[in-house]
Amino acid sequence: MLMSSETGTVHRLGIMGGTFDPIHYGHLVTAEGARYELGLEKVIFIPAGRPPHKPGCNITEPWSRYVMTGLAIESNPFFLASAMEVERPGPSYTVDTVSAIQLLYPESELYFITGSDAVLEVLTWKNVLKLLSKCRFISVSRPGYNLDELHTRLDGIPWELKKNIIYMEVPSLAISSTEIRKRVREGRPIKYLLPESVEKYIIKNDLYRQ
Ligand code: NAP
Repeated sequence: MLMSSETGTVHRLGIMGGTFDPIHYGHLVTAEGARYELGLEKVIFIPAGRPPHKPGCNITEPWSRYVMTGLAIESNPFFLASAMEVERPGPSYTVDTVSAIQLLYPESELYFITGSDAVLEVLTWKNVLKLLSKCRFISVSRPGYNLDELHTRLDGIPWELKKNIIYMEVPSLAISSTEIRKRVREGRPIKYLLPESVEKYIIKNDLYRQ
């Protein structure tokens, strides 16, 4: 399913939210799987500019993460990257991002795709009920992830909004950004865990060495 040729309207739009430090094949396989399974016509990757839940953490500066994201997705015609959170000052609240996307794509059904460990904390996010009324959440995890804790944590969310959270298992999410950064620090290979262009960018810019 593609954009309607008559109107150019995107009916179903995925928003891939993450810190992407760095982006890897787990993220790409997740987005492609969600695109296919949910019939999304486009998936916009939005690297978190200043993640509100990670103040003081040692995160690679936002533009580098955005450039790596752009390199990673360039061969997929269904994928786009947006610098909106990188450019927006202040903490990158998802509710602000989804509201901005809603203005750009007023006719689209929105699907926010992110990791289950992030969704676990969703009740602490800014204006979570408003956020859940604006978009569906695709909560992705590796097989074997214990969903019970997630269900318990989401108890405070009214049913009509809770049903907007969809769960998806993604085997290749065994790859993680944390593991990739650790491998670089230890001088171990990262080849085949992420696109070659991203690997070259990491080497050229000496990322994650310390
Ligand atoms: P995180 O806590 O770093 O990630 C939690 C887990 O989810 C990690 O295992 C991570 O793997 C995985 N993950 C993250 N994004 C993913 C994606 N798009 N697809 C598949 N797996 C993913 O979470 P984060 O990346 O910083 O934040 C996730 C999203 O939630 C971001 O868009 C962030 O802005 C948003 N968020 C918003 C608020 C708020 O509005 N108050 C608060 C917190 C988070 P990797 O490390 O391998 O990516």
